[in-house]
Amino acid sequence: MLCPSCKETENKVIDSRLSEGGAAIRRRRVCLSCNRRFTTKERVEEELRLTVIKASGQRVPYNRVNVLNGVARACSKLDIREEQLQELVDHVEEDIFSNHDREVKTEDIGRYVGVHLRRLNPVAYVRFMSVHRKYSTVDAFIEEISDVRVRAAQESPTQQSLFETSPADPTPLRVGSNVTSKSRNVKTSK
Ligand SMILES: [Zn+2]
Repeated sequence: MLCPSCKETENKVIDSRLSEGGAAIRRRRVCLSCNRRFTTKERVEEELRLTVIKASGQRVPYNRVNVLNGVARACSKLDIREEQLQELVDHVEEDIFSNHDREVKTEDIGRYVGVHLRRLNPVAYVRFMSVHRKYSTVDAFIEEISDVRVRAAQESPTQQSLFETSPADPTPLRVGSNVTSKSRNVKTSK
């Protein structure tokens, strides 16, 4: 990517946005040599060559469907429409394309998903984080859940009801389990 003024190849992306209904990405760049600002447009097909670096160090091509599936799992059985999921992944991709040029770590993608999921639905956020963030202790996880609960209540009092149990309940979240509300009261001790 040559600077139109001085032909320098080194530049920095300062803004990215989707255009043509998501088929292309416009990037504002600044030349690191002469500070000239210019815009480039890249087709999304090119962007799909974005490489994801997994925690194991393995590199795989970016795949929107993987992100969408992860988000959909976290949102399962909550009142969230498919359209909202697609929109959320659009925002995540904007974050990725704004902050990364060719490679992105899975933990970064997870962080972006977390930011947007937290706004969309606190329960989905906690489910997602329980899978994607490596909590070193149970206490750390509980602390995170409590924090989300407090914030959800502050930001939108009605969202408190999204939690399926009252704050006094010692087992407030059934993350990814198949436990039904019926079986909750018939705990058997062996
Ligand atoms: Zn230049």
